[in-house]
Amino acid sequence: MGESKMVHSPLVTYASMLSLLTFCPPIVILLWYTMVHADGSISQTLSYLRQHGLQGFLNIWPMPTAIAWKIIVCYAAFEAALQLFLPGKRVEGPISPAGNRPIYKANGVAAYSVTLITYLSLWWFGIFNPSVVYDHLGEIFSALIFGSFVFCIFLYIKGHVAPSSTDSGSCGNLIIDFYWGMELYPRIGKNFDIKVFTNCRFGMMSWGVLPLTYCIKQYEENGRVADSMLVNTILMLVYVTKFFWWEDGYWNTMDIAHDRAGFYICWGCLVWVPSVYTSPGMYLVNHPVNLGVQLAIYILVAGILCIYINYDCDRQRQEFRRTNGKCLVWGKAPSKIQASYTTATGETKTSLLLTSGWWGLSRHFHYVPEILAAFFWTVPALFNHFLPYFYVVFLTILLFDRAKRDDDRCRSKYGKYWKLYCEKVPYRIVPGIY
Ligand code: NDP
Repeated sequence: MGESKMVHSPLVTYASMLSLLTFCPPIVILLWYTMVHADGSISQTLSYLRQHGLQGFLNIWPMPTAIAWKIIVCYAAFEAALQLFLPGKRVEGPISPAGNRPIYKANGVAAYSVTLITYLSLWWFGIFNPSVVYDHLGEIFSALIFGSFVFCIFLYIKGHVAPSSTDSGSCGNLIIDFYWGMELYPRIGKNFDIKVFTNCRFGMMSWGVLPLTYCIKQYEENGRVADSMLVNTILMLVYVTKFFWWEDGYWNTMDIAHDRAGFYICWGCLVWVPSVYTSPGMYLVNHPVNLGVQLAIYILVAGILCIYINYDCDRQRQEFRRTNGKCLVWGKAPSKIQASYTTATGETKTSLLLTSGWWGLSRHFHYVPEILAAFFWTVPALFNHFLPYFYVVFLTILLFDRAKRDDDRCRSKYGKYWKLYCEKVPYRIVPGIY
């Protein structure tokens, strides 16, 4: 088993893990509690906590119940079966640091369509009411918090005793191995890719399923769905549809091609995505704001435009790489840098860096429309409370940190070529500003 390079210092890992473990589970529960039981008002929750102290906090923490486990297990098993058995074209992932090329089955759109159609049909034919999911949301999040932690222990043990490929290995520190992961492409058997399951089919899929759940809950409560809820749900569904449409492109991004399957990424996808990413919709369930047709359409169009631009940035980069630079970017031959680097096995390879189109505006311009899209699906909640904006704020911090992490990684991978890229495209995210 190859020694993995220590990507983060022990101190950063300990601090990061400690803060994630200490703050994230309570944030998930407090977010849910405030949205569902405290009118979305942080000050109401704070005054409750001031009054009742730690015991009060423990009282609002729901214990995982049998029904919560049942919902999670049925959903996970259904998604795993779709991932394994639905047909899809064979797709090759990017060459890994150890020189492997993972093979995937691209059946994301099929899995997404089957999931949504099945879920809506269960409701329509009176077999299962999605309101049940909303009514047990706290217990479900609580079960996910504990269950995902155990799952990450399984990943750690598997990485030690039965790694799926040579893209694995220990850095010699248990905590770092657990937190940042042991394996880049862990699989069960030859075909069941664990990261595709955790990131795409469990996490991202829940981002399609839960907004629908919130819509249905509001409909069941009020007999109608407010236009704010519709705008929020449509934008999130357009975003998630775009994601599955482009899922094989996602397999080329940092999450899959660079970050190992550890607590950081898997816990995030299994717990944080279902709870925090969908939270603006959770807020709207019992805050049915009426925007009026005109405002609703403006917000919808602005949101769709941002999602499109974000998609087009990713598409442009991937098309450019796929055709080896032999494509048109904004109607012209692309400007590029030919960057060589050395792999872990000592081989010299070349990558092309695009320096025109969206990628000539700034080095991570695609994060701008990503953040704006999140703003547009939140703004139907208007400005009575801060809490619906929690995801937008979190995303902005995440992406600014991610841009820095990616720049650091690329600088050490490409050396002088990355320096040249930074000279040609000086801004990191916001052209002219940062
Ligand atoms: P990218 O898809 O931007 O991938 C970054 C990689 O692309 C770099 O590591 C480098 O890899 C390569 N690269 C960098 N610059 C260039 C260039 N000029 N030309 C060609 N290749 C280049 O990263 P992300 O994974 O961050 O983003 C993917 C999508 O996911 C985006 O749409 C983003 O908005 C979204 N996202 C959403 C998040 C959310 O929580 N909502 C979180 C993170 C991302 P190499 O080693 O191959 O050169």
